[in-house]
Amino acid sequence: MNGEGPGISTSTQDLAAPVDWQRVREDFPLLHREVHGKPLVYFDSANTGQKPARVIAAMDDYYRRYAANVSRAVHTLGEQATRSYEGARDRLAAHLRVHRRDLVFTSGTTMAINLVAYSWALPRLRAGDAIVLTRMEHHANIVPWQLIAQRTGATIKVADISADGVLDLNALERLLTPEVKLLGVTHVSNVLGTINPVHEVCTLARKRGVITVVDGSQALPHLAVDIPAIGCDFYALTGHKMCGPTGTGALWARREHLDAMPPFFGGGEMIREVRFEGTVFNDPPHKFEAGTPNISGFIGLGAAVDYLDALGMANVQAREGELLAHLTEEMRKIEGLRIIGNAPDKAAVVSFLIEGAHAHDLATLLDLEGVAVRSGHHCAHPLMAYFGVPATCRASLAFYNTHAEIERFIVALRKVRGLLG
Ligand code: PMP
Repeated sequence: MNGEGPGISTSTQDLAAPVDWQRVREDFPLLHREVHGKPLVYFDSANTGQKPARVIAAMDDYYRRYAANVSRAVHTLGEQATRSYEGARDRLAAHLRVHRRDLVFTSGTTMAINLVAYSWALPRLRAGDAIVLTRMEHHANIVPWQLIAQRTGATIKVADISADGVLDLNALERLLTPEVKLLGVTHVSNVLGTINPVHEVCTLARKRGVITVVDGSQALPHLAVDIPAIGCDFYALTGHKMCGPTGTGALWARREHLDAMPPFFGGGEMIREVRFEGTVFNDPPHKFEAGTPNISGFIGLGAAVDYLDALGMANVQAREGELLAHLTEEMRKIEGLRIIGNAPDKAAVVSFLIEGAHAHDLATLLDLEGVAVRSGHHCAHPLMAYFGVPATCRASLAFYNTHAEIERFIVALRKVRGLLG
């Protein structure tokens, strides 16, 4: 990272350094715009996060100064592009405490989970096998497994949650019978905000030889994620929710899996030698990265990781904890407002409904007040069905939000409630 860190006076991660959150906010150009003539309150970071100027600048710099393809060219531009692109892998690997060789770049979590489904699960699962998923999974961690189940004859079992949105570990353990081969669990729920005890879940699974796939999409923006400490087999993540560009993400996998898995896509970049009689594949992670990748995107992701590291995830977590406590306290005072997801361990995500009002109407009226929240099923139909609602509104925060924005949101919410009630 060049120069100063975000909102702090040192570029090294210093957990004790006081962060100037107002200055941090200045790093995000988009947050200064207006919507419907009112200052924007962006409470939709679980959908996609906003980008600091240095992430946008890193991508711009690539296109202006050294745009070239990676790996193939020996000329200066190609070498610079390759160094930047592979440098992003180094940074992300260090951020996650893993080895760069075990980190495959993907277009996002969806592709990462599909890679596990098609390269690991499809050749291995058989009729009679079972896959366990939790009730709070995003469709990205449900539908790929349904497709694999259809093709292999495996079945899917569901691990239940409490009314507060907490995973029932006893019930989960009972589900882990000998036919279960794979377990998919989200690290943080995109709807409920629940932070799942993924280390405990993976330990239970590992004891029984069950392979674990953790969906880290919503964890990376909020938590310091130490993949080896979790003890999973696969960890999927997406860049655009963690200050990075869209179309970026990664799959981390235990080395023995990556070595044993056949590639999912074939093409250039992923080979060592191609003859018409057969092909020798490149080593992981490149074995799984066919074709020209999203070079500028990953360079941007590298800058995003630098940004978060300089900020310090412990600082992010502390800041978001304060914002969440404030938001929840104020929302609880609003009559007729129901919060869906009250786990004791939560990220700054609050799903809610107001009696008598449809979620989309709420979100539309809030938008007129300059407040962006998401409404809908949040790609979690089974979870909506469990709570008996077609949709919710969701306010999702990031460290760049402020207490003043929470106050504005609450005023807007009260106004909208008055209009709809
Ligand atoms: N899992 C969870 C929990 C998510 O919130 C999302 C994004 N909404 C995804 C998976 C899919 O991520 P992407 O669309 O970036 O692949």
